[in-house]
Amino acid sequence: MYYEDDGGTQRLDFCLHELVRIHPSVLKSLQAVRDWLNSPEHYGGGVRIRVTDAARTEADNEVLADRLGWNVVSRTSKHLVTTIEPESGRAWCLAVDFIAIDTAEGERVPQDLLGAVAEMFFDWVSIDYADGHVHADNRNGGRRV
Ligand SMILES: [Zn+2]
Repeated sequence: MYYEDDGGTQRLDFCLHELVRIHPSVLKSLQAVRDWLNSPEHYGGGVRIRVTDAARTEADNEVLADRLGWNVVSRTSKHLVTTIEPESGRAWCLAVDFIAIDTAEGERVPQDLLGAVAEMFFDWVSIDYADGHVHADNRNGGRRV
């Protein structure tokens, strides 16, 4: 799919159901991660990003915390659809959790590498998760993309 912004037409390789309620800067950052990984000097194509968690309601957050604990889940999670954009009045989530798969090899991109790439394009990144996902958010407005 494509969308328009100040820089012209932008390409996104994500499905619509992944995108609802996610702030546009997060989508741009995620696309930048994907493009970096798929560039000829890196994986050269074939890397797919799988979003494992994005927008959450307060109820979703409670359920997750019941399972994982409040030491893992934040009460002020950037996944919550609570950030109001003054210009539009819309509420967004600012965070996305994801893994990346090198489809040529059928293997995951290592968590530490994926986190390092995400740090180039997101405001804040954490890789401190046993299941291997990367958390990334644009809590400062997504100025890196
Ligand atoms: Zn997260």
